[in-house]
Amino acid sequence: MRHASALPDGLPALRAIGAEILGLLLAAQCAGCGAPEVLLCDDCRDELSPRPIESLTPGGLRVRAALTFDGVRARCIRRLKDDGETLLSRPLGTALAAALPGRHARLPLLVPVPTSRRSMRRRGYRVPELLIRGAGARPLRVLSEVRARRDQRGLDAAGRAANVRGSMRARTAGRRREVIIVDDVMTTGATVDEAAATLERAGFRVLCAVVLAATPHHSEP
Ligand SMILES: [Zn+2]
Repeated sequence: MRHASALPDGLPALRAIGAEILGLLLAAQCAGCGAPEVLLCDDCRDELSPRPIESLTPGGLRVRAALTFDGVRARCIRRLKDDGETLLSRPLGTALAAALPGRHARLPLLVPVPTSRRSMRRRGYRVPELLIRGAGARPLRVLSEVRARRDQRGLDAAGRAANVRGSMRARTAGRRREVIIVDDVMTTGATVDEAAATLERAGFRVLCAVVLAATPHHSEP
């Protein structure tokens, strides 16, 4: 048996891993404010406390947003979406969880808005699915992209609606199952409306949508 020698041999490797983790932490900056040596400082974590706000999409679907997309919140979400800071899916998923209905009853199926192939190639992960897992739930990947959507930035509401029309399909029949659509950031609601229309056509019953954050004009009373 060689077990006796395994520990002494393994120790230098463990130390190397420890030093690597320490180096990563020392190189880290708070995603919200840039404070050194921490992934998210206490003040910025407080800024991620959910304050769910309800609004309607242009198509009339009820949407709950956990946060407004501004300030520290927007910076943290961009770090998750654009900078590969996937550890942020835990605190941001916790915020999303607060906006999910029926936490004490049975949670309806959570369907993420599909991630485009281009985003998947660039990031290597699906942000809405990470957020659902960060919220302690499981995503039901029913929707997929059938046609590439253009970058939505710079498009107005009508342009966004036209851009997403016919861009998704449902992979299974809904058989009247109740679902909630989940997305990371909602701007005009065009993407959520297209997801809802696609699911309804496939026979799902869309109860509402829940998004991590909505741009501030949605939060005006
Ligand atoms: Zn901070």
